[in-house]
Amino acid sequence: MYDFVVVGCGFFGAVFAYEVKKAGKKVLVIEKRDHIGGNCFSYNHPGTGVNVHRYGPHIFHTSSEKIWKYINSFAGFNNYRHRVLTTAAGKVYSLPINLATINKFYNLTLSPDEAGEFLKSRIPVIPSPQNLEEKAISLIGRELYEVFIKGYTIKQWDCDPRELPAEVITRLPVRTTYNDIYYDDDYQGMPIGGYTPIFEKLLKDVPVELKTDFFEKRDYWKSLAKMLVYTGPIDRYFNYCYGKLRWRSCRFEIEKMQLNDYQGVGIMNYADREVPHTRIVEPKHFYRERTDLSQGTVVVREYPCDDQTEPYYPVRLKTDQEMLAKYQKAESQEREVIFGGRLAEYKYYNMDQVIFRALEQVGKLLKQNASK
Ligand SMILES: Cc1cc2nc3c(=O)[nH]c(=O)nc-3n(C[C@H](O)[C@H](O)[C@H](O)COP(=O)(O)OP(=O)(O)OC[C@H]3O[C@@H](n4cnc5c(N)ncnc54)[C@H](O)[C@@H]3O)c2cc1C
Repeated sequence: MYDFVVVGCGFFGAVFAYEVKKAGKKVLVIEKRDHIGGNCFSYNHPGTGVNVHRYGPHIFHTSSEKIWKYINSFAGFNNYRHRVLTTAAGKVYSLPINLATINKFYNLTLSPDEAGEFLKSRIPVIPSPQNLEEKAISLIGRELYEVFIKGYTIKQWDCDPRELPAEVITRLPVRTTYNDIYYDDDYQGMPIGGYTPIFEKLLKDVPVELKTDFFEKRDYWKSLAKMLVYTGPIDRYFNYCYGKLRWRSCRFEIEKMQLNDYQGVGIMNYADREVPHTRIVEPKHFYRERTDLSQGTVVVREYPCDDQTEPYYPVRLKTDQEMLAKYQKAESQEREVIFGGRLAEYKYYNMDQVIFRALEQVGKLLKQNASK
């Protein structure tokens, strides 16, 4: 009998398993894929040696010193700072929208204060924005919206931005400085050697059954555990009894090139609607310190799509939120099961947030056990 059977070995499951194992508990992890690491799985591309993140590029960034120290106990990090460019209407701009973007777009040489005033003058008054388009225009004005947001949003969500609720965006970062580092967090970087070695360390002393889908023998796995930790999709756990929660997915097209450098940056967005991919990732740039990567490069084109087998971005429209509330009610009545992580909570989490949630959950449990 195990104290815990953990379903899924992404960051939530792996951190949970590591921590309870460290506390002397007996734990087993099952994972339906043929690898550990969940969506953070990375591998060295054969032929080039470039470390590729199979499920999209993952940049570690956090403002929590505690989480930064925690993750650094499993890997060394380089000093990568994320910068994003976007190709829009035949030109290349820097994102998030900053002073360089504004000056280039309007062909001006504004100072920070002038840019703030200038932008204000381009924004129409929309007292109560009714949809994403109106909300975006009320934040950055129509011209910037049309070029940088509209086409990208249509591709990403496959619908007219006027059909999306205003709440989808609360803010659109606009900087009136030349700061083009994408994240504001104090701690940022890429793990040396990729993410998979972190999971190998987390799971070193934990038995893991790969290619094992919980639902094929759900009663059996439950019977082995005093407590189940479930990190798969919440609607699947309840046999979709209230319907399917919507997710947006992504198709990745990988290509090896006999070039030293394809695009000069880790991520290039493509804002124009006519270009079918939303971005091109060149992972080599995440590891500029590596001098042994002279055998070509790898690029990954990303095409947003609907693929319910690979859920990536929760849609979270009103109907999804209502459905989620029903599942959460059912979840609260489920005994001896912990639901955690992005799929079970139907929430977009960054890695640091999901690690935090797992640590928090273990802390709570161990405290409860100690007081029994
Ligand atoms: C395209 C993309 C880019 C991202 N980029 C970043 C980034 O740059 N920085 C950042 O901080 N975060 C990023 N994230 C978020 C990051 O991927 C998540 O925070 C993290 O993966 C969440 O971990 P998790 O354990 O909750 O889920 P997952 O990593 O998805 O792990 C869940 C695991 O459960 C398994 N599972 C599901 N059902 C079953 C079942 N029935 N039986 C057995 N196993 C099952 C799955 O196979 C999976 O391995 C990105 C996400 C996406 C989609």
